[in-house]
Amino acid sequence: MTYKTHLALSLTATLPVMSLTGTLSGGGIAALALGTLLPDIDEPGSWIGRRTRGISDMMNRTFGHRGMTHSLVAVGVVVLLMVSLVLLLNVPAAVAAAFIGGYSLHLMGDSFSKSGIAWLQPFKNKKFQSGFGVVYYTTGSMVEKLLLVGLVAVLVYIVSRMELSLSLADIYRLPGEIWYSFGQAVGRLLD
Ligand SMILES: [Zn+2]
Repeated sequence: MTYKTHLALSLTATLPVMSLTGTLSGGGIAALALGTLLPDIDEPGSWIGRRTRGISDMMNRTFGHRGMTHSLVAVGVVVLLMVSLVLLLNVPAAVAAAFIGGYSLHLMGDSFSKSGIAWLQPFKNKKFQSGFGVVYYTTGSMVEKLLLVGLVAVLVYIVSRMELSLSLADIYRLPGEIWYSFGQAVGRLLD
């Protein structure tokens, strides 16, 4: 997944939650984005890797791409780190949760890639593919591009509705309207 698809996925999944729980904030969105981008610091060619050369080179040499940063152990470390920030530095819990959410959603997104990820590193190097080898994408493929277009369509819809806050009736109508926006976006893409 490219960083754009990762960001679109994280925003689509969490903006409604932030909106419904009244925890939407600039800090929360920044933390979400940072958490979403961070796992690929093990790849010097990635968006965050290019901006952290030196660190990303070292991470790549030590762990390899989709190594330890893409594991449950890493999620555990991130959770501990965020809990410490909340307890010691009074970082708002919602901001810390957004960071953890972004990090976890990155790994879930990668787990649907064709090769999947090895959740159980460093104990086991067996890779798991969340779509059971049936539902998958390869990074940069047409499938991923369509996924990005779909996610952006959903995102635009969500943001346009957020000022009114999502009511139950809106959520009920959402699948149909998302499908409609998706059709329109695909139409524009193929035009
Ligand atoms: Zn990744």
